[in-house]
Amino acid sequence: MSESSIIDPANHRKPVQFKEGFGQRYLLTVDTEEDFDWTEPLARTTHRIDSVTRLRKFQQFCEGRGVVPVYLVDYPIATSPLAAELLRGPLADGRAEIGVQLHPWVSPPNEEEINQFNSFAGNLPPYLERAKLLKLHEAILTNFGQAPLIYRAGRYGIGPNSAAFLREAGIAIDTSARARFDYSATGGPNFESLPITPWWVGKPGSLLELPLTTVYSGLLRKLGPVLFPLSGRLPALRGALSRANLLERIPLTPEGVTVAEALRGVDIAVREDLPVLVLSFHSPSLSPGHTPYVRTQADLDDLYDWWRIIFARLGEHGVQPTSVREIMASVALA
Ligand SMILES: [Zn+2]
Repeated sequence: MSESSIIDPANHRKPVQFKEGFGQRYLLTVDTEEDFDWTEPLARTTHRIDSVTRLRKFQQFCEGRGVVPVYLVDYPIATSPLAAELLRGPLADGRAEIGVQLHPWVSPPNEEEINQFNSFAGNLPPYLERAKLLKLHEAILTNFGQAPLIYRAGRYGIGPNSAAFLREAGIAIDTSARARFDYSATGGPNFESLPITPWWVGKPGSLLELPLTTVYSGLLRKLGPVLFPLSGRLPALRGALSRANLLERIPLTPEGVTVAEALRGVDIAVREDLPVLVLSFHSPSLSPGHTPYVRTQADLDDLYDWWRIIFARLGEHGVQPTSVREIMASVALA
């Protein structure tokens, strides 16, 4: 089991090597999903998919900058004719890519009780996690005409069996590991001790783990991997460390992260020679009022500005956008 588990500490986590000339790249991932009230308990049927229309503008925005967004779609999106209409063209000619995002509570077969624990797919009975994944995979193939090669568990909820099911579904890359975050208080995985550099889950050439990028910043950032988890028990200490510029944790997302923080984060990730910077956000943030991060039109304008500024800084560093296909073609198998 340990050889095939994504986050098992016994996993050797052989780092992924890239071919010469790959340099440093960035990948923009979009958790593309239904609109729901993030403050309410999860439910099977109360969501809407109004924000899907906003993908058109975001796609154009990315195309204007040579960025190929990876849409990690869950079941409500994978069965949306409008999503297919908007994305099929860009997907067909490589201006966008499709991936899987499993929100088990809205993904059939609907057998489990809806609760916090079961919202992490990796906690489900193995047969059910597998069935939901395969059914979603099939829906994506049908709706978008392409087989997805990349996966993210909703709420980052991978489990001990996920890797085997992903391989069975023909998935090449898992991007569920949110290194430096801990979801164990709500029944999810603890990623705190994981690296932010990509690694092989098991044999090189089988499943590649591509963690979301989060860096530590501040004078004590080298101590981040030890100090930050410790300070989690003392929220006041965590706040004080951040205000004193001693230690802060910066995930590369416009959601809850200011431009100034993200610029620091990008500079650090580049300086640390991270081969692929993985940026992310949620598609409902493209329409005001759906996520805690974008409540107004002004917030939405800020979100687009955030991307403009971050793309520009990456460009100044010589870091180019990449795609799942390009990553797969660029790994060096010794
Ligand atoms: Zn999600």
